[in-house]
Amino acid sequence: MSFEDFGFHPSILAGVRELGYVEPTPIQEESIPAIMQGRDIIGLAQTGTGKTAAFVLPILQRLSAGTRGQIRALVVAPTRELTEQTCEVVENLGRQTGLRSVAIYGGVSVVNQTRMLKGGVEIAVACPGRLLDMLWQGAVDLSAVEVLVIDEADRMLDMGFLPDIRNILKCLLKPHQTLLFSATMPDTIRGLAREVTRNPVTVQVGRTAPATTVSHAFYPVEQHLKTELLKEVLSRTKTGSVLVFTRTKRRAERVAEQLSRAGYRATSLQGDLPQNRRQAALDGFRTGSFKILVATDIAARGIDVLDISHIINYDMPDDTDSYIHRIGRTGRIGRAGEAFTFVTNEDATMTGSLERLLKARPERRTMPGFDYAKPEPERHRLLPRRQTRWRTWHN
Ligand code: AMP
Repeated sequence: MSFEDFGFHPSILAGVRELGYVEPTPIQEESIPAIMQGRDIIGLAQTGTGKTAAFVLPILQRLSAGTRGQIRALVVAPTRELTEQTCEVVENLGRQTGLRSVAIYGGVSVVNQTRMLKGGVEIAVACPGRLLDMLWQGAVDLSAVEVLVIDEADRMLDMGFLPDIRNILKCLLKPHQTLLFSATMPDTIRGLAREVTRNPVTVQVGRTAPATTVSHAFYPVEQHLKTELLKEVLSRTKTGSVLVFTRTKRRAERVAEQLSRAGYRATSLQGDLPQNRRQAALDGFRTGSFKILVATDIAARGIDVLDISHIINYDMPDDTDSYIHRIGRTGRIGRAGEAFTFVTNEDATMTGSLERLLKARPERRTMPGFDYAKPEPERHRLLPRRQTRWRTWHN
């Protein structure tokens, strides 16, 4: 199948060609025809499957005809990064359509966003909190919305956005088409989907299992040796861009600092950073001036860097869904990737859950010559065990 088969307007096909897409990905092949027929969709797909273009292309097609200068498509997404990236896809694919989009998210001044809205846009991509603020201030009008996309619904619910989403829905006055995307389908999402969609077509890609292009390995290690081991792994592995996950913001910052001091081009991404520094970290990672990005789960949502060769779980994820999300950042669209997970004795339960998820026992790797017996530094040992954990988890 080719993109020409969908019957897109030539200006949209020009955008597809410009981005170098040759053939549709499975989620695009399955969902684009149904969306173009006006059907509601429940899309079970992870980031990295091409799901953004799967909803952006039919939206561009629909909006190419009809009124301009009013918000006719609204995409609700959990993080600023994802809203920015979705807007970028809209801009790139829709460059020749003349359709305009705006990214709406908090943590930055409202002035620019309001100015863009006043200038007239057809597509708004928004985080729920800031969008609601602007709705209450009368700065945004959703009365003409005809397509609603709820992207990464599972993550939005995890982040407590369900009440905000319900409030936003109340502001949509016209009957509209709803496209809901989620990487996982717990009961809460099933409930939301029932609430917001009408006679939906369910499109499932990847069956919420890890990408098959990713190989998995475990590195048993004691907590206090993780950074040393990370440096060892990095120095002995041929990598492209590497994304390292930690459990806490503080730890993301500290690990990136330690890697930088050791001569690696590393930076961190965590929720406490001001927007300009987050953007600088992301841009640096995307362009390759930083080879290593150390991030927390929430900060890493929506990172769209195509050639991440390795995901390193410095800390075990909290659940198997998070593991799927993390490794969804590598092995994208047919490329190979590797996922390394550092496991301590305390991770036994999650290790078992991951083995059930992967339906395999990942290889346990040890680094020859690495001093696994090196004792914990004195200052850590002086604290009772539980206090040490409290310190490292919550600092
Ligand atoms: P997404 O799942 O939307 O985050 O997309 C992941 C990456 O795949 C993005 O960098 C897209 O630009 C890229 N992509 C989307 N559709 C295609 C396609 N048909 N062919 C090649 N790359 C694509």
